[in-house]
Amino acid sequence: PYEGLDYEKIQKIKSERIVPCIMQYYKKPLLIHHGKMQWLFDHEGNRYLDMFGGIVTISVGHCHPKVTAAAKAQMDKLWHTTNIYQHPNLYEYAEKLTSKLPGDLKVVYFVNSGSEANDLAMMMARLYTKNFDIVSFRNAYHGMSPYIMGTTAISTWRYNLPIAQGIHHAMNPDVYRGLWGGQHCRDSPIQTQRHCNCSEFRCEAAQKYYEQLEEVFKYSLPRGQVAGLFAESIQGVGGTVQFPKGFLKKAYELVRTNGGVCIADEVQTGFGRTGGHFWGFEMHKVVPDIVTMAKGIGNGFPLSAVVTTPKIAETLNSALHFNTFGGNPLACAIGMSVLEVIEEEETQANSEKVGTHFLYELAKLRDEFECVGDVRGKGLMIGVELVEDKESKIPLGAKNFVEIWNDCKEMGVLIGRGGMNSNILRLKPPMCITKADADYTVDVLRYVLTKHAKKIQKH
Ligand code: PMP
Repeated sequence: PYEGLDYEKIQKIKSERIVPCIMQYYKKPLLIHHGKMQWLFDHEGNRYLDMFGGIVTISVGHCHPKVTAAAKAQMDKLWHTTNIYQHPNLYEYAEKLTSKLPGDLKVVYFVNSGSEANDLAMMMARLYTKNFDIVSFRNAYHGMSPYIMGTTAISTWRYNLPIAQGIHHAMNPDVYRGLWGGQHCRDSPIQTQRHCNCSEFRCEAAQKYYEQLEEVFKYSLPRGQVAGLFAESIQGVGGTVQFPKGFLKKAYELVRTNGGVCIADEVQTGFGRTGGHFWGFEMHKVVPDIVTMAKGIGNGFPLSAVVTTPKIAETLNSALHFNTFGGNPLACAIGMSVLEVIEEEETQANSEKVGTHFLYELAKLRDEFECVGDVRGKGLMIGVELVEDKESKIPLGAKNFVEIWNDCKEMGVLIGRGGMNSNILRLKPPMCITKADADYTVDVLRYVLTKHAKKIQKH
């Protein structure tokens, strides 16, 4: 039973003593009490299917018994020390984690959050290349620290501070909303009808977006030189936006030709999330120079990492760089057990199997409802974009969106919300969900969308 502060008291403290940033609360904000695998329970004992996994962070399940046991066992021995001393957990985990990466991506630096990992990656890129300029894509989210905020290109997550020296945003290869289509060229099990002459090897939209990237190099970068490119393998906060096939590979070539390194932000897409691959970048058939990872790496525990090549890491050789909590024994014990669970329970395969089934079922909703503009994603990284109607693609207004989103919660399904226009349902659950969980979510969405469909169309 719930024994915490009562609900009204919490609302009072929230309004009086918490920094009032806008969080997208439900009409009646949820008060969570405990969690178990894909389930969350509120203070009144109501059960919810967690289809957002603490923002794509719960990889193997809330309070997964093996991960919890590993944390408890380590807590009894040692929580924290400093990297001035050595602790075996860091080395054992470093070896296991880096063995999951391809090519020369062999050395790791542990930190505690996605923003910290990207900060460090940006610094490494600048030190290694001796260039300053960085390119990211519009609609990207790479973090909130003042250093990395410049690469985040969703204006609602930016502040009018000197955040963006030397940072350039390229046109986003958004195949749903963009100028040149290319929806059929996404790497997704559900395909829309082809309207183009693209071949398996050459997507016309990808080529157009590539030309836009070239323009950034030509017009904005000092003498065309770049330190690095940041890219998510599927944009997360931006609303599960997938690049057309072939785009990223060509973008990487352009960056390298112009003196830069390629940074894959795997904060959301890593650890088997996209099903077919352990890392999201693999679906683009590229090998980055630096990979950043957070969220799912610790199944909810603050832990993140930057993995790079020995050559790039060399730039920090003999330099002082310090992070108090990075790589602490507790975080490493947890990270290690998460990797073991992913292997033992074949979590990635489940992501692929259940995710593909889920996408097929959600695609039926796209065919049934005028307001479901797009269904996209791979594995358990899924987005459902709600619109006024399919033709105009006008983002569904906040009032209607919130009704739908809130009703899903009332029926026991928690879904994320995202995109520049906050009109995208984000389905990124703990990867232990079953087909039955996916079916239940689709049933709830079908019921709720049916209830609201008439109102939306009149609107
Ligand atoms: N990169 C991506 C792709 C993210 O989604 C996020 C967080 N939403 C971050 C970086 C920043 O992570 P953190 O909030 O842990 O700093």
